[in-house]
Amino acid sequence: MNSMAIRYGDDIVVVDAGMMFPEAELLGVDIVTPDFAYLVEHKEKVRALLLTHGHEDHIGGIPFLLSALNVPIYGTAFTLALVERRLDEHEMTKEATLNTVKPGDKITIGPFQIEFIRVTHSIVSSVALAITTPLGVIIHTGDFKVDPTPTDNELFDLHTLAEYGKRGVLLLLSDSTNVDRSGYTESERAVRPRFEDIFNRAERRVIITCFSSSIHRLQQILDVAAEYGRKVAFLGRSMNSVTEIAHNFGLLHIPDNILLRPQDIMSSLPAKVCVVVSGTQGEPMSAMSRVAVDSHKSLSVERGDTVVLSSRIIPGNEKAIYRMMDHVARRGAQLVYGSMNPPVHVSGHASVEELKLVLNLVRPRFFVPVHGEYRQLSKHAMLASHLRHLGLEDTFVMETGDSLEIDKKGARKGPRIAVGRVCIDSGSLDDIVDDVVIRDRRHLSEDGFVLPIIAINKHSGKTEGVPEIVSRGFVSMDDNAEMMKEARQVVLRTVENSNTEERTDRGVMQEKIRADLKRFLVKQTSRRPFIMPVILDV
Ligand SMILES: [Zn+2]
Ligand SMILES: [Zn+2]
Repeated sequence: MNSMAIRYGDDIVVVDAGMMFPEAELLGVDIVTPDFAYLVEHKEKVRALLLTHGHEDHIGGIPFLLSALNVPIYGTAFTLALVERRLDEHEMTKEATLNTVKPGDKITIGPFQIEFIRVTHSIVSSVALAITTPLGVIIHTGDFKVDPTPTDNELFDLHTLAEYGKRGVLLLLSDSTNVDRSGYTESERAVRPRFEDIFNRAERRVIITCFSSSIHRLQQILDVAAEYGRKVAFLGRSMNSVTEIAHNFGLLHIPDNILLRPQDIMSSLPAKVCVVVSGTQGEPMSAMSRVAVDSHKSLSVERGDTVVLSSRIIPGNEKAIYRMMDHVARRGAQLVYGSMNPPVHVSGHASVEELKLVLNLVRPRFFVPVHGEYRQLSKHAMLASHLRHLGLEDTFVMETGDSLEIDKKGARKGPRIAVGRVCIDSGSLDDIVDDVVIRDRRHLSEDGFVLPIIAINKHSGKTEGVPEIVSRGFVSMDDNAEMMKEARQVVLRTVENSNTEERTDRGVMQEKIRADLKRFLVKQTSRRPFIMPVILDV
């Protein structure tokens, strides 16, 4: 989850604190964050949290870190605005000390001097860190690609990186995400011809889903929409708040009179409308998923509309995304997605040639590939082998919990640090659970389990009979007959309030039933039983 600590003597600085969304097997867990136990244990030594950029996998864990130890945070203005948005959700903004830095700034924290170096990535205002320590310089690239033509014209500061390289760098940590891709990653600008083509051909609405943090992408959509005389509406909570933040910081230029209110989408001339919607990964409750099945109040897909997926398909989400696309196709929309030339989406991470460029400019004594799966880290480590003739002494492929010790004599792996993941229920700080197994066990032992069982006709989507509810270790069914009767109605209502496509989608229905029943049972009993909806296809 992209969090690391650098310690010299009694001083520690932390780089990034991310989070991830759980895999499907972590049933009922909403968020996974790093285990900050090491930092809590050394609380009095932790001086700062340094941020490279504002993606969730780098800042999402901050509320949970700050709830354990209050540490000053340093980042660019846009990154910190996204952090503030997260902290607001937990009503923690007041306690946090946020220090804005600009690329090129140098700050001193304890024995560390830190310079923020501009890099290019899929989110604007990204930086690499050059951390000068008494032993030498550590360069952390953060996430990057070398985009020669970023839409905001803010270039990757390769000069500064090269200057550090010339003076000598002790350790390089570099992004390994796209080490499997040869050549160069395309510039953000490469999508523009594709968008122009889409807008040129579209006779009705253009509906685009992309990541709300892709400011480069949004800028190009706005520009092309203006060129083709279309108004633009933003749908989805994150889409609206992130575009507002970017606009306030002057990072997103919104042409005059281009914005369209969501409530006016369906009454406007379809040929004059572009809608940008969040929910690229088919998340069941996202705006795009709801649009795809006509359950969004502002937008429905109609025959002849063009629907564009301008984002990558994160492995694991294929099923949900393709299901969403099927719903859209069934409504007669034209679909644009996948790889094509010119591209409809470009990656934010460096391919092999860019990785080599950074390695060659920095020429470190030690190298640690970061940000990737083990196979990618080891491939990236191999990629650096030509530098062995140019001063590279060693590379280390590090896994979560590994430590690297560097002193005057050299570098070696140090003792492992106990780390795990922290699973959090419903995103609340009070809901931290130690580990998923313990969580399940605790739920079962303290609050029991509840098994709502409902039969749904997989063709008509109609419910067959009344839902049954089986429970163990929760409450006495006899003493709570009234409540359980009501619980059955809750399940029935959830199904009835869903449309046919949702009803025939087992995953969506399980999630909806779980959420509604959980809310009802927690309210009634203040207990949180383990809820596992069973849907019988008949
Ligand atoms: Zn990342
Ligand atoms: Zn990133």
